[in-house]
Amino acid sequence: MKLVFATQNRGKLVELRALVVDLGLTVISFEETGFRGEIVEDAATFAGNARKKAEEVSQLTGWPALGDDSGLEVDALGGAPGVLSARFAGAGAARSDEANNRKLLSALAGIASPRTARFRCALALARPGAPTVVEEGVCEGEILDAPRGSGGFGYDPLFLVPSLGRTMAELPAEEKNRISHRGHAMARMRPHLGRLAKALQPQAG
Ligand code: IMP
Repeated sequence: MKLVFATQNRGKLVELRALVVDLGLTVISFEETGFRGEIVEDAATFAGNARKKAEEVSQLTGWPALGDDSGLEVDALGGAPGVLSARFAGAGAARSDEANNRKLLSALAGIASPRTARFRCALALARPGAPTVVEEGVCEGEILDAPRGSGGFGYDPLFLVPSLGRTMAELPAEEKNRISHRGHAMARMRPHLGRLAKALQPQAG
């Protein structure tokens, strides 16, 4: 039995794998299942989209699935880009981290610091024959006026963690996972995954 991560985002996959490495679950990406298909993320909330991803992938594959929906909420932009974080600069060719970061900087041009913001992550665990569990995590920060650092992915180079004086992209991977929205959501999800790992273990004798 396997746990499928319902994501096609490489950055998320790397972080999520590191967060559950000790649980003894065999974790594969949606791509590795051999199934194909784009899940339409049309819910109004991160939790709704995470649930949708996990449930669709679990139904398709027959395996337990973990969905991650996450993004950036900027106060001066009324909470945007929010659930549209991946597509802020547009769909298709325009859909890249660089384009999204450029769009964010231009949307915030002329707005004085501190430009408060938060990353939010919803994780959903869907299993055949059991109710879906959803957990959330948040990480507060500020948007800088120029990128710093080369780690992480997405909006990390523009996201300052004030208590550390560094952007998310300047943190080693383990440190990001300790303080990030994804890390906090996973801390809440771990007991559910621990029980799943136990249930999936082959019975001795
Ligand atoms: P999703 O696949 O719709 O959940 O897209 C999430 C988007 O939010 C990503 O493409 C990134 O732009 C952004 N995002 C989510 N988590 C992070 C993070 O940990 N660092 C930076 N950007 C993130």
